[in-house]
Amino acid sequence: MGIAKQLHQLQETDLEIESSERALARITAQLADDKALRDAQGKLEMEQKRLEELRKKQRSAEGEIEDISAKLAAGNESLFSGRIRNPKELSSLQQEVETFKVRRGQLEDKALAIIDEVEQTELSVTRLTGEFTTFRTEWQHRHEELSAEMEKVKSALSGLQSQREATAAGIPPQAISLYQELRKGKVTAVVRVEQGICRGCRISLPVTELQRIKSGDMVRCSSCGRILFLA
Ligand SMILES: [Zn+2]
Repeated sequence: MGIAKQLHQLQETDLEIESSERALARITAQLADDKALRDAQGKLEMEQKRLEELRKKQRSAEGEIEDISAKLAAGNESLFSGRIRNPKELSSLQQEVETFKVRRGQLEDKALAIIDEVEQTELSVTRLTGEFTTFRTEWQHRHEELSAEMEKVKSALSGLQSQREATAAGIPPQAISLYQELRKGKVTAVVRVEQGICRGCRISLPVTELQRIKSGDMVRCSSCGRILFLA
């Protein structure tokens, strides 16, 4: 096999290696990107914290109602016990009992509003828990798929690298250097000649160049500089 053809084989392998490396980089990035899952978790945790705070507020409001109810009961008891005879004292106690009633009503309204908010937040926590669980299951599934894909690409890559070494071993080092130099600026360094035309730049090659290629010489296109070979 001529050197140009061997270089072309090397190029084919290199193109596959590059494509596998791009795939590997893409998979690595996808594996690292768990933003959607973390966002869902963050939202759930925030809502759970809010629920905890609301429940604390609810307990404290209920405690206040208990206190005021006890005071109200004690006031009523004194009021109707008959122990207090002094009208001024009675009227002051009555006023106090009225104040307790009003206060209790206010506290009950406040507690109801908190309970309402607790219920809404419980629903929201349930919904967000469902969303997070779905995201997590999907992510675990995706993670497994991507890891399996990564293993496949890595094993293919290692095969390609061995193949590259074997191909390169049969090519003179200076030809490989030229090939590598050409590939720095172009995707392809070695191109096929078809019907007398360079496939790299589409120019018609002079007959003398074609004859040299046919004779097995390593010829570069006089227009684009690529190494030419006949299929
Ligand atoms: Zn050319």
